[in-house]
Amino acid sequence: MSNLNLQKRVTVLGSTGSVGCSTLDLIAHAREGQDPEAFPIEALTAQRRVDDLIAQARQFSPKFAVIGDPSLLAQLREGLDGTGVEAAAGPEALVEAALRPADWVMAAIVGAAGLAPTHAAISRGVEVALANKECLVCAGDLIMGAVKASGATLLPVDSEHNAIFQVLEQENRSSVEKIILTASGGPFRTFTRQQMATVTPAQAVAHPNWDMGQKISVDSATMMNKGLEVIEAHHLFGFSPREIDVLIHPQSVIHSMVSYEDGSVLAQLGSPDMRTPIAHTLAWPQRMPAPVAKLDLAAIGSLSFEAPDETRFPALRLARNALQMGGGAPTILNAANEAAVAAFLEDRIGFLDIPKVVEGALDHLDNGQGIWRLDALEDVFALDSEAREQANQLMSA
Ligand code: NAD
Ligand code: MG
Repeated sequence: MSNLNLQKRVTVLGSTGSVGCSTLDLIAHAREGQDPEAFPIEALTAQRRVDDLIAQARQFSPKFAVIGDPSLLAQLREGLDGTGVEAAAGPEALVEAALRPADWVMAAIVGAAGLAPTHAAISRGVEVALANKECLVCAGDLIMGAVKASGATLLPVDSEHNAIFQVLEQENRSSVEKIILTASGGPFRTFTRQQMATVTPAQAVAHPNWDMGQKISVDSATMMNKGLEVIEAHHLFGFSPREIDVLIHPQSVIHSMVSYEDGSVLAQLGSPDMRTPIAHTLAWPQRMPAPVAKLDLAAIGSLSFEAPDETRFPALRLARNALQMGGGAPTILNAANEAAVAAFLEDRIGFLDIPKVVEGALDHLDNGQGIWRLDALEDVFALDSEAREQANQLMSA
């Protein structure tokens, strides 16, 4: 702890979300316990929760606060009156927040909406803690290319990828046989397809182990989340699809594993609390205290495992296929999934329709030959909107 750099200047993109709030909670603890000036904040951003953003800005004194929705700018300005915090709104301002001089940027916007700001933060060559997995799914090669070009340090926040980051021995990379992503199985792990046909949004977002935003909670219920994570792992660590296994582990204690050729399997364990992986990225390469429940294995008693079932959870298969197909297929998968999850949350489609819409959009937009070259972010944005349009057409048919 002695070398912990409490002077790291921090920006949080998506500060009002589940990951954003956990990040600020860690900073509040560091300020209470270690140094009242710890982790000075450059910028905070939110999309619509202007009151939460105002409260955060008043507590954490960033230099810059951005609300994505421009109709809320006046309210933000009024709420920040007298604080000296600069306020701005709209998509360009989100990118500007990402470009401001921070040493560590938390990318915690949900969905492809986070792509431009996350890419901007990476282009500055600083430490970027990546929660926004969708940007690796829809533009993995471009993002990893930008990391290489700028010299940025990408620190995985997603608990599985953070676990692998912690136990992957870089010097023995060629001795790795496979990585094993664990999955809780979500709230419908034991449901039949028939039971899943009538589940409500409220049931889908009630995750057994993790308290998360709505979109990722639905993704966990369909298991699309694990599919997105297979693609995320491929880009972050360079493993081929067949070197990435998925294992159901309902207790969410083992966050993922790396299996080596000598038979050793290294795992990272912890209570299911995102503040642990976030703290790992914030303190990296040191460690810092996190106010999480200590792992009590005797109280938990036993850990269990099962193989994933791609018949009941077709999203996993769709994501693997999209990764194999390459090109723009994962971009289409992600965009169609975002559109379908939004429709499900608004009660416009049923739970089992989500993977059907994704599959339909992939079928419609597959041009049969290494589909859609993505040479620049603009290509990703164009394909993303085309896939959303396709998904919406399928849902209104
Ligand atoms: P959330 O819905 O709780 O928060 C999303 C944040 O993004 C909010 O601050 C919101 O204001 C902002 N936002 C939403 N739409 C936006 C837009 N169009 N433009 C700009 N900002 C926008 O989501 P979350 O659960 O915190 O997840 C954030 C990301 O982290 C997701 O990519 C998710 O997959 C990933 N993640 C989350 C968890 C978790 O435990 N919550 C775990 C692993 C990975
Ligand atoms: Mg995860």
